[in-house]
Amino acid sequence: MAYKRTDGRKNDELRKPILAKVGIIPNADGSAMFQIGKTIAVAAVYGPKKMHPQHSQNPEKGTLRCTYNMNSFSVEDRIRPGPSRRSTEISKITEWALEPAVMLEKYPNQVVDVYINIIQADAGTRCAGINAAAMALAHAGIPMKDMVSSVAVGKMDKTLVLDLDKFEDSEFEDGEGSTDIPVSITHSGQITHIQLDGKIDSEQLKEVVEMAKKSCHEIYEIQKQALKDSINLGGKK
Ligand code: ADP
Repeated sequence: MAYKRTDGRKNDELRKPILAKVGIIPNADGSAMFQIGKTIAVAAVYGPKKMHPQHSQNPEKGTLRCTYNMNSFSVEDRIRPGPSRRSTEISKITEWALEPAVMLEKYPNQVVDVYINIIQADAGTRCAGINAAAMALAHAGIPMKDMVSSVAVGKMDKTLVLDLDKFEDSEFEDGEGSTDIPVSITHSGQITHIQLDGKIDSEQLKEVVEMAKKSCHEIYEIQKQALKDSINLGGKK
């Protein structure tokens, strides 16, 4: 029997609410929040500034340095604060997802720091973090070729569903179980990041990409509107 979603969503429906706000941290050069369902990410951008130590400088282009952190209070059982293997991996993935859209060649020997904090986690935090970070980079005035939007597609047993919640991501075990496939895509359709931690055939993977493209377009419109609103509200901060 095909998988039926416990929260009543259609298979290709994003969680609600989706909220995006730009310019939430006055001290940062750029900032944004992105909420989808019960997952909330906050991103702050500092820079570009000179890279220290000097041996880390790249004379060809600037460095995008992302730091992903899930706050201790973001899940029911408090998480041990500080970096973990998971947060290190997600920080790297976030850099890779965003880098193709950022014109780092304009900033040789410099670094752009992006700090992502997950203040509430209910699955899909890396995608929410990427969505918030892309807006914060644009808000900081870092030249970008394109916006980046991110969403996870899941395979529940054999059925594809969009934007997994915590139950779908971690607790569903029927049939082939749950496979989580986070995807990040530029507005022009370039995939900058895709991860796969289970099994899927190539036909279904094509469907995953189509589902992600369609919903990233929806997310892009929300990101764009939040950036426009920040200008209408009287400037950068
Ligand atoms: P993502 O948040 O990008 O989906 P994961 O698949 O690693 O990344 O995590 C899925 C969800 O599991 C998280 O969003 C969070 O709700 C929960 N989670 C992850 N790590 C922990 C942890 N150390 N303690 C409690 N819950 C966690």
